[in-house]
Amino acid sequence: MPSYVIAEKCDGCKGQDKTACMYICPNDLMVLDMEKMKAYNRDPSMCWECQCCVKICPQQAIDVRGYADFIPLGASVVPLRGSKDIMWTVKFRDGSIKRFKFPIRTTEEGTADPTGGFSTHDDLKSEALATEPASLGLDAVPTYKNA
Ligand code: SF4
Ligand code: SF4
Repeated sequence: MPSYVIAEKCDGCKGQDKTACMYICPNDLMVLDMEKMKAYNRDPSMCWECQCCVKICPQQAIDVRGYADFIPLGASVVPLRGSKDIMWTVKFRDGSIKRFKFPIRTTEEGTADPTGGFSTHDDLKSEALATEPASLGLDAVPTYKNA
């Protein structure tokens, strides 16, 4: 379900250097029209449909184009992000509404430990990921040796 911006709701993140949707999009799809101060998804066909932009927009100005098997023609899906959960409101064309609420975090805001308690290394040439080999329960990362 590619995203799109509802122009009437978008405030261009009040003209900051980088808008929230531009910051979060892993595929650099969200761009800001500096003249109109409105963001837009520049290539919905390349959208990963991760919905990160939908969740982060402070104005709830980003919606998704639902696929027909999930969102029948004429219906809409509107997300409302809270600090602990996100509520998806599906409005069907006959006016009926269904809401689905999902948790978006398991820890209090600001308390997540990205390393999971493992110490990290900063050797960028290492084949090991940041917390390896400890997070693998090994003393060293296994490597292939040429015969
Ligand atoms: S995050 Fe929302 S308000 Fe900010 S520029 Fe993007 S669509 Fe507009
Ligand atoms: S849904 Fe994901 S990939 Fe698509 S525009 Fe939003 S942040 Fe980018």
